[in-house]
Amino acid sequence: MSALTELYKEIADCRDCELVKHRTKVVPGEGPEDAELLFVGEAPGWHEDQQGRPFVGPAGQFLDQLLALIGQKREQVYIANVIKCRPPQNRDPLPREIEACRTWLDRQIEIIRPKVIVTLGRYSLARYFPNEGISKVHGKARKVGDFVCYPMYHPAAALHQNSLRQIIEADMLQIPRVLDQLAKGAEVPAESQQLSLF
Ligand code: SF4
Repeated sequence: MSALTELYKEIADCRDCELVKHRTKVVPGEGPEDAELLFVGEAPGWHEDQQGRPFVGPAGQFLDQLLALIGQKREQVYIANVIKCRPPQNRDPLPREIEACRTWLDRQIEIIRPKVIVTLGRYSLARYFPNEGISKVHGKARKVGDFVCYPMYHPAAALHQNSLRQIIEADMLQIPRVLDQLAKGAEVPAESQQLSLF
């Protein structure tokens, strides 16, 4: 059994916060164990809770379109959330729930060791940049510990605010360049403000 499959069993048994009472299915995440890109959203919504899979509702369809822009399919990347169980009525996750669930994503990242962690939205951003606002840091790759993080708006934001769609698409289109620079030893062109790597 793969390390991720074993971890999924542990997550399915988790009762470490009150969200366990509200979930239909736990949504641990999905994707290959050797994924280069790991996308981290916020929490499961209604569709995800029903299916036990991340990003399968309207925001997930937009994420699929975004991945297609860079020639990727969802099967090639890893997709997870900060919180593994759906908060009731899709309310914001509480700090104690985020803290209780923290270990699961940490362990997924340790197994996958992606080249880039793409944070989607403010809750996953806050995990790595607790004092930063998404409007300032989106589209800028940065080293955090052993990993490179690349903040983006949550795809759902474009569903509510059409003006964000182009920004999200433009940020997604930069990801191949980030990977390319990392493959070349992370030398960042001085003229690029978008890629403030390291
Ligand atoms: S949200 Fe996370 S910590 Fe809470 S019960 Fe679900 S898996 Fe466990």
